[in-house]
Amino acid sequence: MPNATQLTWYGQSAFKIVTPAGNVLLIDPWLTNPVYDRGKEEAAALNHVDLILVTHGHSDHVGNAVEIGKRTRVKLVATYDLSAAMTAILGYPSDLADTETTGHFGGQLTLLDGEVTVCFIPAWHGSGVSKDDNSPPFYAGNPSGLVIGVRGGPTIYHTGDTCFFSDIARVSDYNKIDIMLVCIGDHFTMGPIRAADAVKLVNPRTVIPMHYATFPALTGTPEAFDRELRKRDVKAELRVLKVGETTSFPP
Ligand SMILES: [Zn+2]
Repeated sequence: MPNATQLTWYGQSAFKIVTPAGNVLLIDPWLTNPVYDRGKEEAAALNHVDLILVTHGHSDHVGNAVEIGKRTRVKLVATYDLSAAMTAILGYPSDLADTETTGHFGGQLTLLDGEVTVCFIPAWHGSGVSKDDNSPPFYAGNPSGLVIGVRGGPTIYHTGDTCFFSDIARVSDYNKIDIMLVCIGDHFTMGPIRAADAVKLVNPRTVIPMHYATFPALTGTPEAFDRELRKRDVKAELRVLKVGETTSFPP
């Protein structure tokens, strides 16, 4: 029997996916965030990573990507402009951010011998890249969401940071979404109300909330999100993960 796909949430928008073939993907890998107490150790323990995917240039998403990328010599999956900014400004090794793993909206990349596909989806947000808190931001293109297809496993839609937008309904025209990772924290992204509207349109099998409770400004809660989903009669299974928790999706 083929292996399950493992999904670990590290807090904020950071996830690890382990595919049935054992490929390891990191998305928006901010492991050293305020709510993951094992972040430093976990980041240091990641010795084998096959892809790092980043949705936009803000520090709570770029996170530990550069240090992990340099150490494990892993390719960066991002839009052209974000990839250019991360190499030029943050020092991501340019040989690990080449055409193979760099794309743009509407394009689909086939990676890791065809086990994984990645499609870039628009998101309504910002995407400046800054060297540190005291440096000015540099242009990094438009922010993205990502649809990640796993062969023999689920198709996962990570919304990135975004507002509600009606075209989100069309994402599932091209890929039936099994798991939607959706921002619910409010203030900088959708809160529970808009996130529930987005889930209703995308119609995934399972929904996992993210980008909440990391700092006080992010006030959206899974409980409020659950209420909004129920009000809309959304059929998706709500799976609320604890920070650091791994869940699995059988083939
Ligand atoms: Zn963010």
